[in-house]
Amino acid sequence: MNDTIAAISSAGGPVGLIRVSGERAIEAVSAVFHAKNGGELRDAPTQKLVFGTLHGTDGKMIDCCYAVALHAPHTYTGEPMAELQCHGSSAVLTQALEALFQQGVRQAEAGEFTRRAFLNGKIGLSEAEAVHDLITARTVEAAQNAAAQVMGSVGSPIRQMRDELISLVAHFHAVVDFPDEDIDPVLFDDAAALLHRTTSRLYAMAESYERGRILREGVPCVILGRPNAGKSTLLNALLGRERAIVTDIPGTTRDLIEENVKVGQLLLRVTDTAGLRDTNDPIEQAGIDRAMAEASACSLILAVFDGSRPLGDEDMLVLARSTGHRAIAVINKDDLPRQIDEKLLKKHYLHIVPLSAKTGEGMKKLLALIPRLVGLGDGALDGALITNARQAAALARAAERCEAALYAATTGLTPDAVVMDAEGAIAALGEITGETVTEAVVTRIFSDFCVGK
Ligand code: GDP
Repeated sequence: MNDTIAAISSAGGPVGLIRVSGERAIEAVSAVFHAKNGGELRDAPTQKLVFGTLHGTDGKMIDCCYAVALHAPHTYTGEPMAELQCHGSSAVLTQALEALFQQGVRQAEAGEFTRRAFLNGKIGLSEAEAVHDLITARTVEAAQNAAAQVMGSVGSPIRQMRDELISLVAHFHAVVDFPDEDIDPVLFDDAAALLHRTTSRLYAMAESYERGRILREGVPCVILGRPNAGKSTLLNALLGRERAIVTDIPGTTRDLIEENVKVGQLLLRVTDTAGLRDTNDPIEQAGIDRAMAEASACSLILAVFDGSRPLGDEDMLVLARSTGHRAIAVINKDDLPRQIDEKLLKKHYLHIVPLSAKTGEGMKKLLALIPRLVGLGDGALDGALITNARQAAALARAAERCEAALYAATTGLTPDAVVMDAEGAIAALGEITGETVTEAVVTRIFSDFCVGK
């Protein structure tokens, strides 16, 4: 029998939620909560909010709040549960927890509620991982994709493919176990059709990870350019507000400024940098060094040039740093007469966008180009994108084993060759749904969760 656990499940705010799960959950909350109607929480109908008072370890009232009893098995964890909706101060919530601990309840560990939901068969492993994505989502689109995954957009098709492979293997086992019987050739044809279909679906899912990762994590992007090229003005134009200091004095942006910018469905994690130039100022030089290091590691460079001036030595530093990277050359200050040698830029950059960061002219073109260039585009986000590296790796392994089984089925290899590879694919898919995952992996997955979920 599991012990009973409790945790604060809300993050600040006027209402604080305490969640309790385990055999003694309803008993423990009943002991510290006095319903206003004089009844006992344990006798209240399941899922019905009850108003009353909450009492601390010394019996003194600490809050007037709602409580709810949730009877098993129709609960998040599958165990008896109870929740308290308190006033959200940490004074109230910590006293409420103390009172529950006195009833033999213990503090829940990170992700322990969801781990119990998984172990009690209430939720698959891929759905549980999506719960974490949903809590940590940084954009609406990432949240939508995660919400669909919680509802089974990844787990359901994988369970279906796994079931089909299991049926196939069972069929082939019969053949392997009775070698003297003639094998119905239809069996091989049907097997090949199923394996072909499954292999393509698995590869497509595995390959969606590249887009999924971008959706979840965003893309690091660095703005490079000589001092006064208009980098800070461009960052402000991307942000739509004054974040970086814009001045006429070269070298104002000494340190790195990092901002998250939403570009279409994409989260761009932009770093504005100190301008690249030779300088004797050690602080400015440190900023420049960091800008250089940042550019090497980043996924997209916006190389900003002042279009109203000819290219100078400092621009050559920008050229050198961004060549060979995924980069967009921004010819800024296009509201002024153009002096820049565009032909030279064309030799170095595949993508050139003239714009005025000051007036906003041309910004739309840049905003449309960025998501396309990093590979997110405008496609529908219906939960079909794989956003999890562990799942993507297991999918790729499943696809390879499925393809090997297909090869065995179509080239007349023995049935046990088909069975061996199909079983490999089944095991890999089970790692995603949770059927064949090790205890250590489960522990690691849930340790990433926050306490209270
Ligand atoms: P940074 O040093 O590269 O960050 O450059 P800033 O963004 O601080 O801009 C330097 C100067 O150029 C400021 O006076 C800006 O107002 C001006 N500037 C920036 N973008 C434009 C533009 O598109 N057109 C014009 N005319 N001036 C701009």
